[in-house]
Parts: sequence; C-alpha cells; structure tokens
Amino acid sequence: MNKYTNIAGIVGNPSFYGEGFRDYSPETMRTMREYGFDTVFVNIAWSRPFIDAVIPEHVMVSKKFPLISPPDVEERFRLFKERTVSAKQSGMRTFALFGIPEYRDYSELPPEYGVLKGESVSSVAPFASDTCISRPEVLDLYTELLSGIVEKVPELDGMLIYNIDELADICRDGSDCPYCKGVPAEKRLSAFLNELFARVRTEKPDLEMWWEPWELSAAQVYGIMKKLDPRIGI
Ligand SMILES: [Zn+2]
Repeated sequence: MNKYTNIAGIVGNPSFYGEGFRDYSPETMRTMREYGFDTVFVNIAWSRPFIDAVIPEHVMVSKKFPLISPPDVEERFRLFKERTVSAKQSGMRTFALFGIPEYRDYSELPPEYGVLKGESVSSVAPFASDTCISRPEVLDLYTELLSGIVEKVPELDGMLIYNIDELADICRDGSDCPYCKGVPAEKRLSAFLNELFARVRTEKPDLEMWWEPWELSAAQVYGIMKKLDPRIGI
C-alpha cells in the first residue's frame, strides 16, 4: 500500500545550544520511529531560552553580507549539521524550520547593507527595520543562504518557512517601504516564496518545501494559497 502521510516530531527541548546533539542520538531516533515518527525537525525556530538556529543567517554566512550572521555561526552550523547527519543515519527524514526574512537594526550595519531594508519600523520589533522581500537583493541573499545550507547539509530533506514572528517580519501593505506600499502581502509573499523555492530546488531538486502561514489574516492566507506553487506544502 502506498504511504500518503509522514509524521514529524521534535525532540525534547529542541535547542540544547552548546550541549551537542544528545537528543538526536541513534537511540532516541530509534525510539521515535517506534512511536511512529518518520520525520524530525533538526532545529526549532522558536527555541528558548537557548536561541539556536532560528534563521538561515544563524548557520550560513553570506559572502556579500557577512555581518548579518552572529560571531558563533560556525558553532551553530556544526551542531545543526551533526544533528541532521545523526538523524538521517538513523533512518529519519530531516527538516529545518526557519524564519525569513530577518528584521534587523540597519543603523548598526555598513551603509551598503541598506539595499536589504524595507519598512523603517518593524511591527514585530520596533527597534528594528524590516528586510524587504520585494527587493531583488533580498531574494538573492536568501537564495544564497538556503542554497548554501542544502549544499553543505545534503542530509537535509526539507524546510518549513515562516515569515512573521520570531526574528522575522515582512513590510506591511501600508508601510513606508517604497517597494511594498500598496502592494498586497499575498502578492508579494507568494512571488517571493515561489521564486526562492524554485531557485533553491535547482541546488537540490528533491528538497521538500513547506510554508507556515503564521500571523497573517485568513484572507491573506487564502490569497497566498491560490498563488503558491502547488509543490510547496502548507
Ligand atoms: Zn518592502
């Protein structure tokens, strides 16, 4: 009989930042399989109190915008990679959960980073500005980061992406962003996600892509569903 469903789980406190990958040991993965899970998240974006890998910038460095990654990015990548390899070798499907795009305080970055900036005051984090998904530089940045991740972590089977909340936000329709003002979020976001996923799939054609409709209205979610590439899960 064909298998139509996968069951994904997380392991304990999913971050354990700085404590290795003990929960992704072969023994734990075997127990999860016995419980019926066949997929495991190797990071959880809402990991607290130990912020681990929340956004792609936490595990991958952009050549053009290296300062948006934290100083300990190599350590975070190492843990991310170790968990993914361990889970994969234990027979599990492996998924990452990332917020995109990151809001940040552009006044603390060199002027050339301003090509990424959108709405001046993020609705999630008033101390920061949004990063604008309508700008081609932002599409190029996340293409670089996600493609780098699937290239360096080929054991990763899929990604689940959200766009608003922990460390991530998009410009609002009525924002002061000259690229987004007056353009409905469902149009901007579906175009961004479709193009981003299409580009990353050129690096890894069988990568499974999922989108999480978090912090959007029902009308916006429905509008995006109608425009989203049907190969992207929701
Ligand atoms: Zn914008």
